[in-house]
Amino acid sequence: MKIVMLGAPGAGKGTQAKMIAAKYGIPHISTGDIFRANIKNGTELGEKAKQYMDQGLLVPDELTLALIMDRFAQADCSNGYVLDGFPRTIAQAEALTASLKANNDALDMAIDVDVPDENIIERMGGRRACVACGGTFHVLYNPPRISGKCDLCGGELSIRKDDLPETVKRRLTVYHEQTQPLIDYYTKEGILRTVDGTKDVNEVFAEITALLD
Ligand code: ADP
Ligand code: ADP
Ligand code: ZN
Repeated sequence: MKIVMLGAPGAGKGTQAKMIAAKYGIPHISTGDIFRANIKNGTELGEKAKQYMDQGLLVPDELTLALIMDRFAQADCSNGYVLDGFPRTIAQAEALTASLKANNDALDMAIDVDVPDENIIERMGGRRACVACGGTFHVLYNPPRISGKCDLCGGELSIRKDDLPETVKRRLTVYHEQTQPLIDYYTKEGILRTVDGTKDVNEVFAEITALLD
């Protein structure tokens, strides 16, 4: 099963992708998480990506594509994957289609987690991410059991630098300009499905599993 998650920053792609990965036994691949791991480890790629990420801009396609193709080559991708945050541009989507096609393969579904811009700022303001494992929480909607600590690994929770309101606004603009056109792209491919991302986490997941089962 090969799935792409679409949606604005903060729509809940990561939250749902992790649940899909656990239920269907496929890896959850988040380009944002991979970039952040590279930043944390001080790699050259991380250093390049950080300049864009901190400003709320997309990392150039060239860098992103090299990174994701490398990830696809790993053994755990042989049964499929759920992609979270990739593709984010038409050029990335076309490269993905082409690379799958070269192996007589294709995506099964693109799931758009639909959340209006008004809700996004609130979602991002309350997002807390684990520095150690990338686990994601929300102070109101998905609070950790112990405030400031990750439920999964006990790590410290922090506010992502790019979740500050000004940067969120920039990311939303970038989303509408560069990523939203993918909804049309996958509609034309006949694999787009939309779920209402304003419902609570478990209700959204129920909609998604109904589509996948
Ligand atoms: P969110 O979960 O809020 O949508 P991500 O963690 O997916 O954010 O991405 C954080 C940042 O990493 C993006 O704002 C962008 O700078 C960079 N990034 C992640 N994925 C991509 C991609 N496919 N193409 C370009 N930049 C990306
Ligand atoms: P994305 O990967 O699309 O950027 P996340 O999954 O990181 O989004 O979710 C953004 C924030 O919103 C997080 O703090 C998360 O806990 C919270 N969240 C996710 N899904 C929902 C939901 N259905 N309702 C309310 N809050 C949610
Ligand atoms: Zn953690």
